[in-house]
Amino acid sequence: MTYIVDIWDALSVKYLNINEISSFRRIKIEKKYNYVALIKKRIFSDLWQRMKNFGEMKCPFIDLIDGPFIRIDRKCAIKPSKAIKTARLIARNSGFDILINNDIFFNENQNKLKRYLIAHELGHTFLFNTEIYPIKPLFSNNDNFHVESEIRNSIWKEEEDFSFEIGRYILAPTEYLPQVIPKEPSIQAFIDGLENFQIADEILGKRLFQDTYNWKNGESYWNDASLIIFKNHHSGQLSDECQYFHGTNYLEKIRDNYQLQSEIQSILCEIYPCDPNKKFQKNIDMNGLNWHIEILFPFTDSDGYILITPRLTEKNYTQTTLF
Ligand SMILES: [Zn+2]
Repeated sequence: MTYIVDIWDALSVKYLNINEISSFRRIKIEKKYNYVALIKKRIFSDLWQRMKNFGEMKCPFIDLIDGPFIRIDRKCAIKPSKAIKTARLIARNSGFDILINNDIFFNENQNKLKRYLIAHELGHTFLFNTEIYPIKPLFSNNDNFHVESEIRNSIWKEEEDFSFEIGRYILAPTEYLPQVIPKEPSIQAFIDGLENFQIADEILGKRLFQDTYNWKNGESYWNDASLIIFKNHHSGQLSDECQYFHGTNYLEKIRDNYQLQSEIQSILCEIYPCDPNKKFQKNIDMNGLNWHIEILFPFTDSDGYILITPRLTEKNYTQTTLF
């Protein structure tokens, strides 16, 4: 028996045509990305078709955990289990069990986490052939498969990352994004998105800034902005706990731009502690660029948001406003 070790080799059999497969197999590893993108594009468009066919047509998606998309299309039964840490997918002959430890969901916010974990496990089901009996994984990731642990770890990581990516597309499908979130970035649009999609800010951050939106050019949805999710804002300091997200066209990673970071820090010192829901905006001229900074702490005890949009200075923009 031959083992397919590469997740993309395995998925290519299902999602590429014969000509595409033969060039995918011949091509140098660095050029494989184009085919990986093509595979992903087709999986996500298939996914959205399936979701619509099974009534997942508006947000929040998969809110009913025994809805027909999960139960019939993905052949999953969600079962509580205290024996596992968070959630796990178990393949049976004719479907899957998603085991989930309900003890970890102790407040209302945790419902978002629960849906994210379920969406991730649903992501794993796309790496199986579910049309046959018994259901079989598309590639050989089981323990009987003897490869070096390094290779096994990288297969595992690839599978995990892609299952999380599918999970994010389930919770905020590409085709549906523009109905909820305008193309023009703003913190208010981000907060509305959290509310509508019922997902955590980190997930929406990845979805808008990192995940591919346009498969032709690889751009993300908010491609020329950057967002800092400000954690532990009691200190008023940018710290390692903050999460940084950059759109694909973003000119310079803000994490590497110490001058801009110190400008942001000095704004924070100026306005801190600020009233929840009071928006702060400022334009900064630096290195021939005009950076538009928007800061909002929506609630006293939750994350704060800093949105940075770089603009060329020759364009006319409004002066500093504080309101
Ligand atoms: Zn997983």
